[in-house]
Amino acid sequence: MIKTISYLGLGTMGSGMASNLLKAGYELTVWNRSAEKCEPFARKGARVADTPANAIRDAELVMYSLSNDQAVEEVVFGAKGILSGIKAGQIAMDMSTVLPATSLREQEAYAKHGVDFLDVPVFGSKQESADAKLWIMAAGKRDTFEKVKPILEQLGQTVHYFGKNGNAAAMKLVGNLIVALEMEALAEGLVLAQKTGLDLNTVMEVVKVADFRSPLLVSNGQNILKRDFSPSFALKLMLKDAGLIEKFAESLQSPIPALRVVGKNLESAVALGFGKENASAVIKALEKEAGVEVKARRPLGRSQVLAHKK
Ligand code: NAP
Repeated sequence: MIKTISYLGLGTMGSGMASNLLKAGYELTVWNRSAEKCEPFARKGARVADTPANAIRDAELVMYSLSNDQAVEEVVFGAKGILSGIKAGQIAMDMSTVLPATSLREQEAYAKHGVDFLDVPVFGSKQESADAKLWIMAAGKRDTFEKVKPILEQLGQTVHYFGKNGNAAAMKLVGNLIVALEMEALAEGLVLAQKTGLDLNTVMEVVKVADFRSPLLVSNGQNILKRDFSPSFALKLMLKDAGLIEKFAESLQSPIPALRVVGKNLESAVALGFGKENASAVIKALEKEAGVEVKARRPLGRSQVLAHKK
């Protein structure tokens, strides 16, 4: 049974997961590029390391959630990176959203050190990470997966095994393709609703119950109406993911015409200065073009359902 874990990358997602590992009683060592993010963990009993190599020395399991492929490159392969300190028998898991090719490169590099590697990306955002309600996917050797499964079950509400390395990273890009299109659909729909003068609270009441409903549409739609764009999943990360999806789909000659359009809209919203806001701020590029602002005219929550069909 694994008892000692290192967690590297205490951003929106990593901080929630690391907190839950501490709560579950694991001996935790943390590292983050900006050291101040380690402080709350030190107060709760985690050991804090000064480099990735030092962070992972005594851990049976090494986990990390980093922004992008570049960050993985630096933290895993760089000077004082994980690979410079890791030893045979340890297990490594990358929980970032990266190209499947990056996962495969990591797996090969770790294998040279006698280390088993799993790509373990997640669905869900800030709240799901904090509440241990993530939807988790894992790929790599089956017996390694079985060893870490009890830990993953403490971080998420579901855990799916995807077979060989790279497959979970691929599934994450498949899912984020759908997420990006859903977010664009929501933004275009709300701008159109505003333009035509519909009551936006009632629009959201319908979005909540109709056969195209989804939790993503509901939470983001409600926040847009409140003009709350505080980041759970930053717009710049969604733009990053659109780039990964494009590269991945091109490598397989799989058509992604709609994603290309969404990518341009994400680029416009980032260029307007909204990259650090939530991905739902993609609507701001459309609002600018339309000359409107999508905003509730009365407080949310008062149901407009006048009659339920029995
Ligand atoms: P975030 O809040 O921006 O955190 C990013 C983390 O990566 C921070 O710890 C940051 O360190 C670190 N980092 C960035 N560049 C680095 C570098 N060059 N060297 C070392 N560390 C570096 O991002 P997040 O939302 O937690 O996302 C993390 C990963 O999960 C991303 O791949 C994202 O696509 C994926 N993901 C996010 C969500 C979501 O809803 N947020 C959902 C599913 C998956 P500093 O603190 O020093 O900046």
